[in-house]
Amino acid sequence: PDRADISYFGAGPALLPTDVLESAAQALLNYQSTGLGIAEHSHRSQYAADIINEAKADLATYLDIPDDYEILFMQGGGSGEFSATVYNLVGAWVTRKKAEILKQMGVQDEKEANQEELVSALKKAIDSELKLDYLVTGSWSLKAYQEAGRLIGPEYTNLATDARKANDGKFGKIPDESTWSLSKSPAMVYYCDNETVDGVEFPKFPAALGPNSEGERPIVVADMSSNILSRRIPVENFSAVFFGAQKNMGSTGITVVVIKKSLLPPACPQPSPALMRKLGLPVPPVIFSYETIAKNNSLYNTLSIFDVYIAGQVLKKMLNVFPENKVDGQEAVANQKAKIIYDALEAHPGVYRIVPDKSVRSRMNICFRVTIDGDTDGSEAKFLKGATARGLTGLKGHRSVGGIRASNYNTISVSSAEKLADFIKSFAQQ
Ligand code: PLP
Repeated sequence: PDRADISYFGAGPALLPTDVLESAAQALLNYQSTGLGIAEHSHRSQYAADIINEAKADLATYLDIPDDYEILFMQGGGSGEFSATVYNLVGAWVTRKKAEILKQMGVQDEKEANQEELVSALKKAIDSELKLDYLVTGSWSLKAYQEAGRLIGPEYTNLATDARKANDGKFGKIPDESTWSLSKSPAMVYYCDNETVDGVEFPKFPAALGPNSEGERPIVVADMSSNILSRRIPVENFSAVFFGAQKNMGSTGITVVVIKKSLLPPACPQPSPALMRKLGLPVPPVIFSYETIAKNNSLYNTLSIFDVYIAGQVLKKMLNVFPENKVDGQEAVANQKAKIIYDALEAHPGVYRIVPDKSVRSRMNICFRVTIDGDTDGSEAKFLKGATARGLTGLKGHRSVGGIRASNYNTISVSSAEKLADFIKSFAQQ
C-alpha cells in the first residue's frame, strides 16, 4: 500500500508528517545546495548550530518555555533519562546539602573546610535524608523507579504511590493525592505524565506537587515522552521535563530535556567525582551529565543533527498550523480525536472495555479490550485483522499487557480518528 492509504496508530516510533519526510529526503541528499546531505555535514558546522538553535527557539515558542529553562538534546532515549535524572538530581541535592553544611560550619569556601568533617556531615545527611520519590502509575514510571534503585540503592528511593495497589495489582488508576507518601525534601519527585503502555495520563499537574505555603516548589521531574506537544505544560512547576522525540516530535534518535537553569552551573555545579566517590554515590557518565551537555549547547559529542532537523521541521509545521494559539490549538485537536475514538468505544459497552479508569484515560494511547461471546483473544485477533484490511494498522497492544492500543499522536488526522471510530462501531454491529 501507499502511505496515504494507511492510518498508522503505532505507539512509537510514530507516523511522521509526509511533507516533512519529503523535504527531509531532499535534505539528506543535498542540504541547502551544499552538495552534502544534512546527515553528512559536521555537527560543528554553522548549519548544525543553526538547526539546533532554531529547534530550541521553536520549541520554547510552541510550549511557552520561560527564559530560566535550558533545552538539551541528548541521546540514550527515554530509558537513558531514567538514569540521567537520578545521577544529575542526586548530584544537585549533594551540592545544596554541601552549601547548607558549609554555612553551618561558618565556612565560605569549600577548600577552607575540614574535609573529613564535611564528608562525615554529608554522609550523615545522605543516610538520614536522601530520597528520590517516585509516583508509579504505569510500566514506564515503574522502570524509572527500578532504575533508580539499581543505580543508587533501593534504600534511597521512595515509592510514594503504587497505582497497582488500589486496582487489583494492575495499572489503570491514579491513587488519590491524599494517599501519596511524599518525602519531606526529596532530591526529586518523579512521575510519568502519560503511561504509553497502560493508557493512563495525569489529567492535570498534581496539586500535591505545587508550591507550599511559602511559595517553595519541590523538585519535580516528569517523563513526557508520549504526550509532549499535545497539551500545555505548566513549565514553571517542573525542575525538568524529558521526552524522546520519536512519538510527537520527530524521528528516533534524540531525547530532549527541558531543565531549570537553577539546576545547572553557575547556580548549581555538580559535585566533583572525587567527592561523590567518597560519599559512595554514583558519578554520571559524562554524556549523561546535564552540566556537560548544557555547557556545549548539546554538542559535547556527535549529535544526530538529522534528527534535530526533523524535530525542527515538525515544530515549524505546528507553529504554521497554529500560529496564534500554538500548543493550545494542538491540544484542542488531540482532545477532539480522543473523544471521537472513546465515544465509539463507549457506544458498545457489551463489546469493548476501556482499560483505564475514565478519570485518567490517556488522550494519546487509547487502550481497550474486545470481547464477543466471552472470547477476548479470538475477538481481538478478528478486530486487528478487520482493521488492517481497512488500512488501520499498528493497533496491537503492548506485548506486556495485550489488548488493543490506538495511539493518537499529533500526526493522526481527524479523518484517521473518524475512520477508526467507524470501524469500531461497524465491528461491534457485525
Ligand atoms: N517513557 C515513555 C513514556 C515511553 O513511552 C517510552 C518508550 O516508549 C520510554 C520512556 C522509553 O523510551 P526509549 O525507548 O526512547 O528509551
